[in-house]
Amino acid sequence: CGIVGCVGLPSAADFLLNGLRRLEYRGYDSAGLALASTAAPASIAVVKAAGRISRLQKLVETYRPQGDMGIGHTRWATHGGATDVNAHPHLGGDGEVVLVHNGVIENYESLRNRLESAGYHFRSETDTEAIAHLIADLLRDAQFSREEVVRRQYQPLLGVVQAALSQLRGTWGLAVMFRDYPGVIVAARLGSPLILGVGEGANFLASDASALAGFTESVAYLRDHETAIVTAETIRIFHRDQGRVEPSLHKLQLSA
Ligand code: GLU
Repeated sequence: CGIVGCVGLPSAADFLLNGLRRLEYRGYDSAGLALASTAAPASIAVVKAAGRISRLQKLVETYRPQGDMGIGHTRWATHGGATDVNAHPHLGGDGEVVLVHNGVIENYESLRNRLESAGYHFRSETDTEAIAHLIADLLRDAQFSREEVVRRQYQPLLGVVQAALSQLRGTWGLAVMFRDYPGVIVAARLGSPLILGVGEGANFLASDASALAGFTESVAYLRDHETAIVTAETIRIFHRDQGRVEPSLHKLQLSA
């Protein structure tokens, strides 16, 4: 139902929890977040729980996941009950892909059957998890070296996400992190809002401008069929058919 994300913010966990609380008014049944370091590839810490954000906050206080980048989600269940396991973020493969998703994937059953036959182990009942394994599968096929991904400014990862999206029917606001390629979030939109926020030394994303207030005043609205590469330094936007497009920046305006 709601998405937040940031790259390059030392207090990432605080931003994510704060942002999720600001999205509460939209309604939700579960919440979760993933945290990682922009500096080093390492397993991404995921904390998630059905119920109130206060429950998630307690888990964060207990486990103290570390990181200066991350993604967060409030879920309004469409596929699978409101359980801890079904809460987002979801992992793809062995955890090399971690993502949050707003929307519905109509063809998830056939994707799930195909991916399960290929050996992917599904942990949840959600439609979303099929996206995570699909991206992991394409990523394994591609076998990019970290050097290549950095040299090509994360474009190979965007290509993999776009290839996955081309196999999906449905709607999405999507934010994806990659265990082996730190420092980047790939975002995508079709039919579910996503806003990118330009900060100083950090960049942001959210499904709702209210989550960004106080962190940035400069925002760009992702349009349908657009994807974005978000790092601490830059935001680059690409349209499925038009290639790279310049973000049109707006001043963040909130009705009080
Ligand atoms: N369809 C997904 C699920 O049920 C996402 C729901 C949402 O947008 O919160 O997990």
